[in-house]
Amino acid sequence: MPPALVTRFAPSPTGHLHAGHAYSAGLAYLRARQAGGRFLLRIEDIDATRCRPELTDDLLADLAWLGLRWEEPVRRQSQHFDEYRAALHDLQRRGLLYPCFCTRRQVQEEIARIGAAPHGLDGTLYPGTCRQLSAAERTRRIAAGENHALRLDMAAALASLGDAAQHLHWHDERAGPQQATPDLLLQGIGDVVLARKDTPASYHLCVTLDDALQGITHIIRGEDLFAATHLHRLLQALFGLPVPAYAHHALLLDPDGTRMAKRKGSKSLRDLRLEGMDPAALWRQLGLNPAAFAV
Ligand code: GLU
Repeated sequence: MPPALVTRFAPSPTGHLHAGHAYSAGLAYLRARQAGGRFLLRIEDIDATRCRPELTDDLLADLAWLGLRWEEPVRRQSQHFDEYRAALHDLQRRGLLYPCFCTRRQVQEEIARIGAAPHGLDGTLYPGTCRQLSAAERTRRIAAGENHALRLDMAAALASLGDAAQHLHWHDERAGPQQATPDLLLQGIGDVVLARKDTPASYHLCVTLDDALQGITHIIRGEDLFAATHLHRLLQALFGLPVPAYAHHALLLDPDGTRMAKRKGSKSLRDLRLEGMDPAALWRQLGLNPAAFAV
């Protein structure tokens, strides 16, 4: 028998959920149900500076109101920092990480100085300033208590994979076969941060490890994360993890035609719930069959 299909919804409690999240969660939920598979919920609350526990409570209430049902216990990333640290140590031991002491401003200044601002995954591509530091300099600055992030040395990571770096394939159910080529990883993603100054692990690291650990077979999420999947595919290769199937769906737009976003105050699911909206009506608006949900 083929292994059961497992999907997940993995919100970050940094703001209230909106209809775009309901759509994403709904697609993942339906996919699991239709295949007789499993649907998991994971709380991506690693960023203590932006995540708030009451937002987790609210999102659990929103999802229950929508008629979603998930397996317990729910994995909360903030309870697993030791596991992420162990993975970082592993990369460090293999010489694939380096400490980066740059502030955002220093990165911008360096980019202005070299006169190029190629686009990377999380903004501009890191120009590699701290990659050049000597081991002695790194040790000295860390010993002096200088705050630092940990960056992936992309060139070293690709080299460590040997021939396999030429075969980082993944499949998106909408966009078809994809390849995270070395060129794309070096020039479009670069030396990404895997541990931030204020958070011991990055989204990219945690999401990749957790999807594998939880046995997720199908990752259904918004197309804003499409480019990040190339990096996740590389991390899967570095850690020897299985490669799930992907389906990056189109993002829902606000009535003014711009992307829904927590930060710009798109109407939240909590508002709709407290206003007494019928969740079945929301599912219909989203083009999903309300009968599939326990509403
Ligand atoms: N936690 C991420 C977010 O809320 C989504 C992670 C994912 O689906 O891979 O944007």
